[in-house]
Amino acid sequence: MFRVTRYIKTLMEPSPVVPARKPPGPVVIWNLIRRCNLTCKHCYTTSADIDFAGELSTAEAHAVLDDLHGFRVPALILSGGEPLMRPDIYELSRRSRALGIYTGLSTNGTLIDESNIDEIADIGYDYVGISIDGLEETHDVIRQRKGAFRESMHAVKLCKELSPQLRWARPPPRQARCLAPDDPRRHDPAVRPLSRGA
Ligand code: SF4
Repeated sequence: MFRVTRYIKTLMEPSPVVPARKPPGPVVIWNLIRRCNLTCKHCYTTSADIDFAGELSTAEAHAVLDDLHGFRVPALILSGGEPLMRPDIYELSRRSRALGIYTGLSTNGTLIDESNIDEIADIGYDYVGISIDGLEETHDVIRQRKGAFRESMHAVKLCKELSPQLRWARPPPRQARCLAPDDPRRHDPAVRPLSRGA
């Protein structure tokens, strides 16, 4: 999202130009599936809880992973739709990790519970992003489902139990992310310990 206030601040207080970074390849956000268990008002993929035509098979998704690896993609965020609605999400995630790609999961969090948190932990995602759009009432209105806030916050709690490094990526309530201990974004002043906001 383009942020006007940040843009104006940059114009008023220009920061020194940093040396250009040369990552080996592009960072990829992969909308693995269009299906989603929610129908948020702001949804950019116009998702719904139905099977959409044209989704990649598991074999095709593996071929994409091979291509990304060949393109030397350093980081891959698995998103959607709701990526946890793909039955092969764990298989694809493991493969991405095995290829040495920094692998993240971007989820609405409502499908993370006691039944799958161990599997998610076992994969060892480098990043798990769970979007929170406001306090309970606001979040549920935006997400168009009563109870969505509590489900997502339950997922945050389960992730936090796994990873004390969990941080709010923006002033809460906004978004919770699990950041690895060596993730440079942990030093971003906008990233706060979860315990301050939860
Ligand atoms: S959780 Fe994401 S993909 Fe699902 S409906 Fe909301 S915005 Fe769309």
